[in-house]
Amino acid sequence: MSEFLCPKGMEYGPCGGVTAVGECEVAPRPCVFLDRPTVRWSAPPGTDEGGTTGGHSAGADRMRALIARRPIVVADFPARALDAGSLAECAGTLAGHVDAVLAGDSGAARVQFPPSYRAHLIQAAGVAVWAGLNCRDRNRVALEGEVAALAHVAVAGVHCVTGDHPSTGSRPDAAPVFDLDSTRAARTARAAGHLVSVAEAPATVPTARRPARLLEKMRAGAEVCFVNHAGGPGPVGEFIDRAGDLGVRMGFVPCVPVVVDHESARLLVSFTGLVLPAGYLERILAARDPRAEGIAAAAELGQAFLARDEVIGVDLSGGPGPGRERWFAEALAEIGRALVPVDRSPAGR
Ligand code: SF4
Repeated sequence: MSEFLCPKGMEYGPCGGVTAVGECEVAPRPCVFLDRPTVRWSAPPGTDEGGTTGGHSAGADRMRALIARRPIVVADFPARALDAGSLAECAGTLAGHVDAVLAGDSGAARVQFPPSYRAHLIQAAGVAVWAGLNCRDRNRVALEGEVAALAHVAVAGVHCVTGDHPSTGSRPDAAPVFDLDSTRAARTARAAGHLVSVAEAPATVPTARRPARLLEKMRAGAEVCFVNHAGGPGPVGEFIDRAGDLGVRMGFVPCVPVVVDHESARLLVSFTGLVLPAGYLERILAARDPRAEGIAAAAELGQAFLARDEVIGVDLSGGPGPGRERWFAEALAEIGRALVPVDRSPAGR
């Protein structure tokens, strides 16, 4: 049998798609990184691994200043793909109620406006953008162009992920690129002057080595870690402690699950590696008013996360059923107001 190679060609694996039994997200074979030691960060000799160096983003300056003052609230961006009207409507609904929106990847709609153009449209409607950047659809040259454009439009942050394999989303016909991976993309975005975030999944195999992988992302240039749904403040706190013991000094932004109806529940449970606090979903779906219960549950959980000093903010994570984008944005705005009821001057403008 031929040797199984990482389908994403990752150097700094494993990705967040490893299954609960240690198999690759793409094929029923063991993830190739499970038996290897964590790969230490090192830029390839003779390169800066990023092209543009010494870049600057005014949006990063504003977001760093805001983080120094108080916890931030970021919200997943619920607008329809390729729909400028929906983007403006959702951005206008969230403006003034959250500090930034995470405009990232979607398995249901792989084709999106390019990150920098999407950021431009959203920020024009009054809310700062934390732009998602994946390595699936663009090679390093295209990514360098994107991070330069994102600095020009002054996004608040750039969230670097390797990205799900195309075989898992709405465009399985597309060729996978994966010229870089999340760790290397973090370096590229940092070199362009961005405030860089990465994701880590404490509940995803190999759980014991997730903090060590985060350390290497920090060494590559990441400053903020968005923590995937891992079961609530207890497990997330343990992950932060273990990362701290290894020397990780980053700001943490745990994901808060947002469920306000059966459709948003269905979408959330499709997330890779999802672990929710015990009874969370059941409490909301059994309520007479799931929307009100979901908003209250998210606000409570968000406050619990924010009790730790290392937690610099929360990300309201989830998405709407078809046609409910604005309604979902209104719920996100309500949770944002409940979490930090203070000034919301747009950090990315
Ligand atoms: S699970 Fe991810 S890192 Fe592991 S082999 Fe598959 S694609 Fe590569």
